Amino acid sequence: MKSPMLPDEHHKAVQRALHLGRTGDPKALPELVELCRLPSNEVQRLVASAIGKLAEFGADTEAAVAALAPLALRGRHPQTQQYAIRALKKYGAAAHAHVQDLRDMARNPANRNYVRAAAKTAADAIEQASQDTETGVKHRCKRCDTPVSVEEYTRSNEAFQRVFCDRCFDEVFLERRNFETQVEISKTIKARDGTLVQSKGERRIAEWLSRHGIAYRYDTKYRIIGEFQIRPDFYLPELDVYIEYWGLDTPKYKMSMYKKQTLYQQEGKRLISIYPRDLPGLDNVLTSRLRLFGVAL
Ligand SMILES: [Zn+2]
Repeated sequence: MKSPMLPDEHHKAVQRALHLGRTGDPKALPELVELCRLPSNEVQRLVASAIGKLAEFGADTEAAVAALAPLALRGRHPQTQQYAIRALKKYGAAAHAHVQDLRDMARNPANRNYVRAAAKTAADAIEQASQDTETGVKHRCKRCDTPVSVEEYTRSNEAFQRVFCDRCFDEVFLERRNFETQVEISKTIKARDGTLVQSKGERRIAEWLSRHGIAYRYDTKYRIIGEFQIRPDFYLPELDVYIEYWGLDTPKYKMSMYKKQTLYQQEGKRLISIYPRDLPGLDNVLTSRLRLFGVAL
């Protein structure tokens, strides 16, 4: 359904929903609840995602579930439903009253496959969370799903902002260290400002950014996008924009590229994708993409 809102009003609501989701401030919940009454699928989808993000910051679970459940079960657009279902899942045991409805949705062939899959995952997770509440289990390992102790929770949360049992912690730690060593070894090209990068394409982007006085962080740290941790090539902190340079052309690389691009999109992140074919006209490409995000140079 096309949104009947005015473009300007719509744009403001979209930006507001994105902003509130990023704040991590549970006090934003009432405003989000207001926003999700607006007749726009895009706004509702972003609001649902934002409310989901506030779960871990201690948002009022009852109000959040009350706002999400109608969107999840009767949202006008299947994508809105999918986002609301995923957000509902994050409220765990507090959403227990809706498990049966979610199971019905998962079984109903009239629903889109991705809605059914999301409903099943959410119903399972909410049920598990309810059982955990009863048996006193607070957290489970994200990797192997066993319950973790408070010490394990604290240790892994501090190191990775993720929950792992000690055994998985050690494995993840090693995997990551190997990966980082590989990445550091392959940073052999120096941009004019001294940043070491991995390819000529990245060097062009780095130098373009410094020439335009745009602050950037190159491949510095993992960021949590959706449920994944990814390491963006460039992050522009003042503009909240990501730039990825997709330099390779192998099938495996493309698979992971599509996956990452979808992730950015689903989470409402502002991503500029640059390909080797963009390099000859890089100046125009970056200028016009940034303009789309309201950045005038
Ligand atoms: Zn584990």
